[in-house]
Amino acid sequence: MSRDSDPATRVAVLGAGPMGLACALDLLDRGYAVDIYEADDRIGGMSAHFDFDGLSIERYYHFICKPDQPMFDELERLGIADTLRWSPTRMGYYYEGRLHEWGNPVALLRFPRISLLSRLRYGLHMFLSAKRRRWEDLDEVNAVAWIRRWIGPEAYAVLWERLFRLKFHHFTDNLSAAWIWSRIRRVGNSRRSLMQEEMGYLEGGSETILEAWRRAIEGQGGRIHLKQPVTGIERDESGGFRLATPQGEAQADRVISTIPLPFVPRIAHCLPEAEKARYADINNIGVVCLIYKLKKPVTENFWLNVSDPDMAIPGIIEYSNLTGQEPHIVYVPYYLPREHEKFQEPDNAFIAEATGYLKRINPELTDEDIIAINVSRYGHAQPICEPGFAKKLPDIRTSVPGLYVADTSHYYPEDRSISESTRLGKRLAAMLAEDDRAC
Ligand SMILES: Cc1cc2nc3c(=O)[nH]c(=O)nc-3n(C[C@H](O)[C@H](O)[C@H](O)COP(=O)(O)OP(=O)(O)OC[C@H]3O[C@@H](n4cnc5c(N)ncnc54)[C@H](O)[C@@H]3O)c2cc1C
Repeated sequence: MSRDSDPATRVAVLGAGPMGLACALDLLDRGYAVDIYEADDRIGGMSAHFDFDGLSIERYYHFICKPDQPMFDELERLGIADTLRWSPTRMGYYYEGRLHEWGNPVALLRFPRISLLSRLRYGLHMFLSAKRRRWEDLDEVNAVAWIRRWIGPEAYAVLWERLFRLKFHHFTDNLSAAWIWSRIRRVGNSRRSLMQEEMGYLEGGSETILEAWRRAIEGQGGRIHLKQPVTGIERDESGGFRLATPQGEAQADRVISTIPLPFVPRIAHCLPEAEKARYADINNIGVVCLIYKLKKPVTENFWLNVSDPDMAIPGIIEYSNLTGQEPHIVYVPYYLPREHEKFQEPDNAFIAEATGYLKRINPELTDEDIIAINVSRYGHAQPICEPGFAKKLPDIRTSVPGLYVADTSHYYPEDRSISESTRLGKRLAAMLAEDDRAC
């Protein structure tokens, strides 16, 4: 264990998602005293579990890809590497009312409705994107234009356009190619062979790593304050910080915020207005995510893309086809901007609609097969990264010494993941320690 600091230095970490937890543990390892403030009644943020009709499971689906090295390193550090499991998984495409195999070269060649040339161009784009290493020259490039250039308008219209619209809505035409490329690369490199995709999960779900973090943090004297949203950050006379929480005022020598960036301007009263405006300028998309417990599978796929003019979802995730768990677990995500009128619709409206979709995909599915359904909502499920996003991102080191601000946007062009949040959480701790040493 390294001791980079005076043990009395107290750091407040805002947010007990993977980034906050990984950061807190690293700070404790470096000898800091740590308080974590979490708005929710549980740790985990977007990867938190809930009690789903007697089953502890993530509110939102979580799978692990082969390139998720920071996650593997953290599992080792926490002594739980043996909980990682890998499964061969299948992908499908529900298109024009039919289920098609997807996710391997033969399936692509068999896909109907687009010319052979378009299919070959699509395959070449996927292959070269998975092999590509550099992203910087894609940062300023528009994702739709980049994909259309590679695969042509026909394949774009059939294979990408509807998925993009349902995931990003009015942001679709202003997305960074670097950001979309990094998603293609992560999933594209999670394979056993050219023909076989392979995905990972943790035995016990994300809760396994969350609980390991909690045990390690509390075991080293870190304190986790649940249901304690920080509502204000001010500087105090000694050069430290005063935090407003429902429990009252708390003091800290340093503050690391890992909460979604759009919340920062509302609470970081000590930051100049121009700096606050930069956080407010980062767009996010929300999610309304349904989870079903079923007596039988919908399909044999883990991931099913859906492109159907009468279905307002980009896909379904049959989690049990990854983990093998019974009864069968299926997630149906609706990605929606928070200001979209549909985001406000009641749970029952989503349940009626999504249940209808599942029955259309598998006409043998009946109401009798549904054991339980739950709906979760999160307003900041995903930052939206437009061309030139690297320059738009505010620095993690704010203009106020001792105050650090980051969220999932800060690992652009990587997509949000537990792995990348872990990596950045540890980097935040290292930055703070480095600055302290320099003082
Ligand atoms: C639908 C969906 C599917 C996903 N699928 C995957 C996947 O397959 N694989 C994968 O690796 N990742 C996946 N993710 C992403 C993964 O969940 C996130 O990358 C990860 O949880 C981010 O962790 P974080 O700590 O950076 O942020 P968050 O999880 O957002 O945590 C931030 C925390 O800050 C808290 N907070 C907010 N305001 C305050 C305040 N004022 N004071 C104190 N606390 C506050 C929040 O309650 C939250 O707990 C998915 C996410 C979603 C939504």
